[in-house]
Amino acid sequence: MPGEPQDDCLFCEIVAGRVPATVVRETDTTVAFRDINPQAPTHVLVIPKAHYANAAELAAGAPEIAADVLRETKAVADEEKLDSYRLVFNTGSGAGQTVWHAHAHVLGGRGLQWPPG
Ligand code: 5GP
Ligand code: ZN
Repeated sequence: MPGEPQDDCLFCEIVAGRVPATVVRETDTTVAFRDINPQAPTHVLVIPKAHYANAAELAAGAPEIAADVLRETKAVADEEKLDSYRLVFNTGSGAGQTVWHAHAHVLGGRGLQWPPG
């Protein structure tokens, strides 16, 4: 079923509390936690609690939860006092996606170049 937890999914395990994470925010539908391999002074991942493989599937399958994720990225940026920041949804292995549970990267706290590599 779309949205159901997947046994072999790392981020579903974080949602379930079976894998530890440094959680910075939680709502009924989302969790935000610090990336284990930060690429910037602030590097927080915002994920839906429901399992969708990537942002496109989340937006198609549960648009209201996709909106919750976006709202939470703003809340993280505010809490981290970021006036500039970047949101990234790596989608597909060629774009660097390594965890197949939708997540927004919130990156900030340093200058960010555009276009990215
Ligand atoms: P992706 O490459 O799929 O866009 O992003 C996955 C992110 O998850 C990476 O930035 C990676 O550092 C992070 N990550 C992988 N394993 C863990 C973990 O066990 N805990 C946390 N907090 N982040 C993780
Ligand atoms: Zn999952």
